[in-house]
Amino acid sequence: MISVVFPVYNEEENVGKLHAAIKRVVDGLGEPYEIIAVYDDSTDNTLFELKKLSPVKIVVFAKNRGQTSALDAGFKIAKGDVVITLDADLQNDPQDIPRLIKKLREGYDVVSGWRRDRHDDWGRKVLSRSANWLTWKVTGLYLHDHACAIKAYKKSVLVGVNLYGEMHVFLPCILYLRGAKVTELEVTHHARAHGFSKHNFLKAVKDISDLMVVKFIFSVKRPLLLFSLVAVVFWSLSLISLAAAVIVGWVIYS
Ligand code: UDP
Ligand code: MG
Repeated sequence: MISVVFPVYNEEENVGKLHAAIKRVVDGLGEPYEIIAVYDDSTDNTLFELKKLSPVKIVVFAKNRGQTSALDAGFKIAKGDVVITLDADLQNDPQDIPRLIKKLREGYDVVSGWRRDRHDDWGRKVLSRSANWLTWKVTGLYLHDHACAIKAYKKSVLVGVNLYGEMHVFLPCILYLRGAKVTELEVTHHARAHGFSKHNFLKAVKDISDLMVVKFIFSVKRPLLLFSLVAVVFWSLSLISLAAAVIVGWVIYS
C-alpha cells in the first residue's frame, strides 16, 4: 500500500487541486493507496476545503504545531509500506510519485527529491546551498537538496522515529545515521501560485540548532566527552592567560 502524506496550514486555494492531482497519479498505479492530510490548524477555510475531498484521512491538530509535527503525526498513522511526503502548496508535483516509488524499489530506504530547477527567490536558493553543504559536513550525507519536501520512504525505516522542531528536513540524515540506504532523484518544482510561504529567516536558525541535535542524538555517542574536550581547551586558554597576566604583572611591578 502507498501512503501519501501532506501537512496543511493555510492552503485553502491549494488543497483541492493538490488532492485531485495526487488522486489522478495514484489511481494509475494499480495499487491500494491512502491520502493523509495533516491539518495543522489554519486561519482560513482550509479545513472546510479538506472536508470536501474523498478519499482522504484527515488528522486535525487543535493548534498550529508546525510542519515537522504534522509530518510526524502523518507517519504515525500511515499504513502503507511506502510513504510519500509532499507539500500542500502545489510546489511539488505529484507526477513525480511513480518515479520516486520505482527508485525506492530499486533497493533504497529513502529517496529524496532534488529541485534542480528550483522556483524560489535567489536568497532562499543561496541559503539552501549553504545549508546543504553544512548538513553534508556535519552528518556525512551528501544530498543536493535536503529541504525538498517530496520524498519517498520505506515505512519500516520510519518506525521508532520521533520528529520535533524543524527536524523533518534532516529525516534522511537521521535514517542514514541509523543505517538506511538513501539516494536522491531530480523532481519538478513549481513557483507558489496561491497563499504564502511560512518560511522565514528564524526557521533557518532553528534548522541549524536541529542539525546539531540530530548530530548529537544519532551520531555523537558521548556528548559529555565532546563538551569536556571543549572545556579542556578553554581551561588551557584561561590558564595561559592567567600565567601571562602574572608574568606581565611581575615584570611591571618588580
Ligand atoms: N505547513 C504546516 N504548518 C506550518 C507551516 C507550514 O503544516 O506551520 C505546511 C504548509 O501548508 C505546506 C508545507 O508545510 O504544505 C510547507 O510550507 P511552506 O510552503 O510555507 O514552506 P516552504 O515550502 O516555503 O519552505
Ligand atoms: Mg512551499
